[in-house]
Amino acid sequence: MNEIKTKGIVVSEMPIGENDKRIVIITKDKGKITVFARGARKTNSMFLAGSQLFCYGEYILYKGKSSSYNVKQIQIIESFHGIRKDIDLLAYGLYVLEFATFITQENVPNKPLMKLMLKTLQILVRKVIDYDLTMRIFELKAMSYIGYTPNVINCVNCGKQYDKYSFSIKLGGIVCKNCSDEQKYVIRINNSTIYTMRYILATSVEKLFSFQVNETIKYELTLIMKKYIEYHLNHKFKSLDFLLKL
Ligand SMILES: [Zn+2]
Repeated sequence: MNEIKTKGIVVSEMPIGENDKRIVIITKDKGKITVFARGARKTNSMFLAGSQLFCYGEYILYKGKSSSYNVKQIQIIESFHGIRKDIDLLAYGLYVLEFATFITQENVPNKPLMKLMLKTLQILVRKVIDYDLTMRIFELKAMSYIGYTPNVINCVNCGKQYDKYSFSIKLGGIVCKNCSDEQKYVIRINNSTIYTMRYILATSVEKLFSFQVNETIKYELTLIMKKYIEYHLNHKFKSLDFLLKL
């Protein structure tokens, strides 16, 4: 039997028939996979808790007839039960799942992204730092893991270093005064916001979620990341629109 054992996070769940469930898990070893959990909706099912949204666990799976898998065994590592109990927290958590699902490919593992997603959910549920800042860190780091690292070191157009910049969404980085005049979609950016972005990109996930920023930096980060993501991924996240209205 073609069996695999991998750690993963449940990013979506859908009821099938009367008692079963189809879940999508972002796993450490296989990327995004679809898994069938037989009987998972029965109250006495041993798959009940482990097949719920946000659950992080170790999954033993076997190959189904098509490209999907079936659950054989689930060992819950962290249920993130707290996220589902708080409506604000739930909104942030759902955005993390939606974002990660969108940028993860089926059967293509992305271990740094998986680690980032797990850490972000832990930071949210333990309320370590501001929820919005947590999201901006997650977004910027996640974008860098899939090849969209913005250049925040020197002017992305001419390569020179200056003491003031704007941010070009289209070019994907900071632009100097001379170059910003030629660009259409530029956003004003303070140096402290640039330093924050440099810090996020250069720091490991373990050490990352331990700083605070003022409202100006948070505002600029939110605006830049929203437009940067929309432009480069060519996608609007439904759960983000909801979050920005909170
Ligand atoms: Zn320039």
